[in-house]
Amino acid sequence: MSTVDRPGLSDSVAAAVDESRLWAAHVALASIGGTPAGGVCRLALSAEDAEARRLLAAWARERQWSVAVDPIGNLFIRREGQDPRLPPVVTGSHLDTQPTGGRFDGVYGVLAGIEVLRALDDARIGTQRAVEVVAWTNEEGCRFSPGMMGSEAFAGIRDVATMLVVQDANGVSVAEALASTLDATPDATRRPLGFPVHAYVEAHIEQGPELERTGNTIGVVTGIQGTCRLRVEVRGDEAHAGTSRRGQRRDALLAATRMIQAIEQHVESCDPADDVRLTFGMLKVKPNVPSVVASWAYFSIDVRHADDDVMLGLVARIEPICREQAGGCDVKVTEIQRALATRFEGRAFDAVLAATRSRGYRHIAMPSGAGHDARQMAQLCPSAMVFVPCAGGVSHNEAESAEPADLAAGTRVLAHAVHELANT
Ligand SMILES: [Zn+2]
Repeated sequence: MSTVDRPGLSDSVAAAVDESRLWAAHVALASIGGTPAGGVCRLALSAEDAEARRLLAAWARERQWSVAVDPIGNLFIRREGQDPRLPPVVTGSHLDTQPTGGRFDGVYGVLAGIEVLRALDDARIGTQRAVEVVAWTNEEGCRFSPGMMGSEAFAGIRDVATMLVVQDANGVSVAEALASTLDATPDATRRPLGFPVHAYVEAHIEQGPELERTGNTIGVVTGIQGTCRLRVEVRGDEAHAGTSRRGQRRDALLAATRMIQAIEQHVESCDPADDVRLTFGMLKVKPNVPSVVASWAYFSIDVRHADDDVMLGLVARIEPICREQAGGCDVKVTEIQRALATRFEGRAFDAVLAATRSRGYRHIAMPSGAGHDARQMAQLCPSAMVFVPCAGGVSHNEAESAEPADLAAGTRVLAHAVHELANT
């Protein structure tokens, strides 16, 4: 195949993307774990997850694409290339959802990948490299914590043995749930973890409001902002609500709320552009009764920013601020997780940007506020993401909603980019 032909062929593949077929695939998947409120509950490695995998495998069989699984249960659907020895182009996302999840988070990236394979078939276009669609295991991390298990295992970031022993709230281990999930795809070839990948591209709903607010159809994702999570433990003394004077108290709850306010004010003062994401999502108190001064308070801090220097500068200020506001209580600040910002660059990013431009969609370059499997893949190979709008930016919510035309637009960009990458 000459490089001269390729732009025309990429147009043909993009043109073969079928909006109504793509929508029908979403409707089919939304019925697996569908909730009365119109959302989806398809927890990782559940019976619903297994059923979704069974459906994908059936679609693969219809088209004679091969199906494989690895030791953490990542599912791969492969459309063979002219040279099977070349590292493939991989696209996909995840099938699992939050307990009150929506119909698009994750599953869109998998179904967009399937639609790309169907479009390649329908346009009768071969590629030099194989194209594989992946469904990563347990991205969400709500049944088995932490999430991103599939992509972290694939990228060698965490050891599978430590994942397999993780248990859910009912004492079921990942190993047990995985065994029954894999029963759903008995014909799948077993393959070892990880292999060379030429490029990875993940399509996803934005999960934020920027595309809709700015009237754009496509977000060309520049990277994933860094995240730092901390826990703050404050210790004071229990005291009687009626007899202890203000000056005698060591009130852990009051100290914790002062710390929260002071950290929030610090961020406000040094982030006029409102780019820092700061969340105190959890607060626990003991003894947590109305007539006793709290002796213990525990809260979480989640800080995110696309610039590591900004994020780490802020994180460094947290402990001093907590000490300033402790008011005689003891305070302990612990950092429990840190993921530096990911930048998407190189051939995958370039292909997505070029595909978006040549399809003529209104687009912006933007960082991702949420974490995705592409963060792990970016450590292995050139990686990129394509965002499409979701209504009101609502996600991780049963009300999550996206327009068929936008989903198709993102898939056409994906089809164009994947076709280019599979021939370079
Ligand atoms: Zn997702």
